Amino acid sequence: MSELINLAYLVAAILFIMGLKGLSSPRTAVRGNLVGAVGMLIAILATLVERQVLSFGWIIAGMVVGGGIGAYIARMVKMTAMPQMVALLNGFGGGASLLVALSQFILAPESDHTVPWLVALALSTLIGAVTLTGSVVAWAKLEGFAEQAMKLPAQGTLRVALGLAVLVVAAFFVWLEWGFLLFLLAVVALVLGILLVIAIGGADMPVVIALLNSYSGLAAAATGFVLMNNGLIISGSLVGASGIILCQIMCKAMNRSLGAVLFGGAMVSEEQMASIPGKEFYEGKVKSCGAEEVAMLLADAQRVVIAPGYGLAVAQAQYATEELAKVLGKRGADVKYAIHPVAGRMPGHMNVLLAEAKVPYERLVEMDNINPEFPQTDVVLVLGANDVTNPAAREDAASPIYGMPILDVDKARTVVVVKRSLSPGFAGIPNPLFINDNTLMLFGDAKAVLQDLVRAVQEL
Ligand code: NDP
Repeated sequence: MSELINLAYLVAAILFIMGLKGLSSPRTAVRGNLVGAVGMLIAILATLVERQVLSFGWIIAGMVVGGGIGAYIARMVKMTAMPQMVALLNGFGGGASLLVALSQFILAPESDHTVPWLVALALSTLIGAVTLTGSVVAWAKLEGFAEQAMKLPAQGTLRVALGLAVLVVAAFFVWLEWGFLLFLLAVVALVLGILLVIAIGGADMPVVIALLNSYSGLAAAATGFVLMNNGLIISGSLVGASGIILCQIMCKAMNRSLGAVLFGGAMVSEEQMASIPGKEFYEGKVKSCGAEEVAMLLADAQRVVIAPGYGLAVAQAQYATEELAKVLGKRGADVKYAIHPVAGRMPGHMNVLLAEAKVPYERLVEMDNINPEFPQTDVVLVLGANDVTNPAAREDAASPIYGMPILDVDKARTVVVVKRSLSPGFAGIPNPLFINDNTLMLFGDAKAVLQDLVRAVQEL
């Protein structure tokens, strides 16, 4: 029997890896997700058989309640609220590891209490607790329930002190095996989780969520050692590793080091904040235009690039965008979408959103591939994007986003920026693109503007 169970875990692990591979491209992402889910079902069934948890009443009740809540949340969540949901789910993962670790200390027979097992128990408690409270704080910030980046007095010292404290308590727990030390470890780690995330804000938040995702995987892997469950060890390690890789990709795209995210505090320092100009930056320099004017530009354009951003997601304008792309395509224009790795509020946000509107994958072009094409582009339509098109990231060494890779939309012949006002984007800084000679501003809600554009182009 045990060979069969291990074989099932192996099959599950292979399916997880194939699922992750599938997630690397929008074309195969849905299948990848399904393959991973089948792997998880096999792992769960193997665990139930291995542990002789064969009370079908409980299993069915668990599947109905858990599956029902999951399906409800997945259907109801807005695309713009995905990071919050991911944060919360990470927190649940960390919380589960914490609870399993605490209960195993009480339930496991004395003979299990070897040093490696106790180390795994301490790690599962520590990482699980940090992940739980860190994720809840991250969720609260993204939901707007908590301040973006809260500064506490002596925050840095406190974090280091608590970091050292958890290590010392964990070491004493492994040595002395006192249950009280394990609970103390959990409490200090819960506070540490809050302190680690509370000071981080703005554009760094999704990086933190990816990191917490990685932590939840590491906690699960440690719990796998506690329970001696191969499936959990493998799946936890995969989540841990993929979370870290995601962190790295995002840090690179935002030109931040992980250290700067975790310990550097705000992306924009207080001095930088004070020197950031307000709306006066644009005074008298912006050229605003109407839908008819832009429709004429688009009708004559051979090469059009659409640069979508967070505003497109907020406006739910993905369908209207693709409708315009189709209308222009019928008139002979070559229309592509420029995808910045951090456009939106989470990695892959734009791909998922555009996939929803059935934009063909081959028209989604990654930043590094589209950037050389901008100088030959007739019109770029910037739709609800701001920071990811800000040339200050390339040119202004004093800018808080200096060095962040951007879409070089300003190099196109004409740039049309669609947004509701001159408000800044996520980074909170002005965008000199809006006052460039080749830029036209088309103010309005992205969806309404796009519908006007479709109409205006069709009437030409
Ligand atoms: P931004 O947040 O820079 O800008 C979005 C713009 O959309 C705003 O300026 C807003 O202007 C406009 N907007 C909002 N609602 C609407 C609407 N209904 N219709 C039209 N426009 C609208 O978004 P970007 O996508 O350019 O940049 C993403 C930012 O998020 C970056 O700073 C990035 O670092 C950060 N980020 C992204 C992550 C990711 O993984 N994707 C992770 C972490 C951070 P107005 O109010 O005037 O309409």
